[in-house]
Amino acid sequence: MGQARLRGTPEQRKAAAIDRQMALRPKFITCNNCQARLTEMSPMDIAGLDGIEAAFTAHCPACGHDTYALKGEAEAVARLHMAIEDNVGAASKAGVVPPANRPDPA
Ligand SMILES: [Zn+2]
Repeated sequence: MGQARLRGTPEQRKAAAIDRQMALRPKFITCNNCQARLTEMSPMDIAGLDGIEAAFTAHCPACGHDTYALKGEAEAVARLHMAIEDNVGAASKAGVVPPANRPDPA
């Protein structure tokens, strides 16, 4: 069981952070380029990103495009969105998971 303790090793805390992220994993990410439904996605390292609850990246096997799903405070999401664009180039469109995609809507 992935029971996270507050005082763990950095590895344990990172694993717990990934567990928390996986709980927020959307059912799928829609490819921003070809609208394919991508169910394979990897959690991004969001350590140190204030306001971000979860971030995933999905690689589309059909067109080779990477789409990002970001969840958190609007301002933090916008900041991360811009950082991703700076990193990978403006041609890559970061996607934000629509509320309907969430496993259990709040
Ligand atoms: Zn695609």
